[in-house]
Amino acid sequence: MSGRWLQELTWEEFREAKESAKVVIVPVGSTEQHGPHLPLGSDSMVAMTLAEDVSCQTGALIAPPLWYGWSPHHMALDGTISIRAEVLAELLYDVTESLSRHGVKRFVYLNGHRIVNITWMQIAAERAQRLLGVEVVIFDPGYMSKEIVSDLGFGPLGHADEIETSHMYHRYPALCKPERARDFPPPPAPLYSVDPRYPLDTLCYVPSTAARLAEAAPISKGVSGRPTLASAEKGRVYHDHLVGRLVAVINRLQQA
Ligand SMILES: [Zn+2]
Repeated sequence: MSGRWLQELTWEEFREAKESAKVVIVPVGSTEQHGPHLPLGSDSMVAMTLAEDVSCQTGALIAPPLWYGWSPHHMALDGTISIRAEVLAELLYDVTESLSRHGVKRFVYLNGHRIVNITWMQIAAERAQRLLGVEVVIFDPGYMSKEIVSDLGFGPLGHADEIETSHMYHRYPALCKPERARDFPPPPAPLYSVDPRYPLDTLCYVPSTAARLAEAAPISKGVSGRPTLASAEKGRVYHDHLVGRLVAVINRLQQA
């Protein structure tokens, strides 16, 4: 793997690397259904590949990814593994605490699981800053790509939609099955939406229930969005934009 992954270093190498790195990225994803065309690990993989490119440009270290997410609504489809949000907040805090005891002072929680992760990541980040005296930044691709997604022809944020499908086509083409992609556009959501571009409420979203997902699944196959609009080229533009933004965030932390 490229990038400076913690799990590939010895403890002596880590002791030396943390001095120049100054920042540790923690990729946080999920293992959950992503329609008939994307692998179960998509959310973890998009966070990992962003972390790798950013690590190569900045020297930041990358902690082993959190492969599991809070995915109760996706349990309707096979292969999804859901961990309770409170367990995830504790796990992320413990990862941060361990590394802070080894002298790491700055962290980026890199989110691959979209809005569902944000709340409990905020809980872990706030507690870490208050109790450990570290600095934590949450980096979310949905919020950090607001300026460009309309130009790319992407619709509202959904699931296994044209946005993450394009990203996966660009970075993990061998794991994708474009011929199996099918569209299932999300219904209009008056007043509430998960799309960061939505002018009304986006943060008071409540994850759906497995029963509701199971009801739509015979037609939706777990998709919410238009993955047939996806392309590897759109994924490249999206990826490069996010890498540029995250490099800027990490450069600021390294100079602090
Ligand atoms: Zn996803």
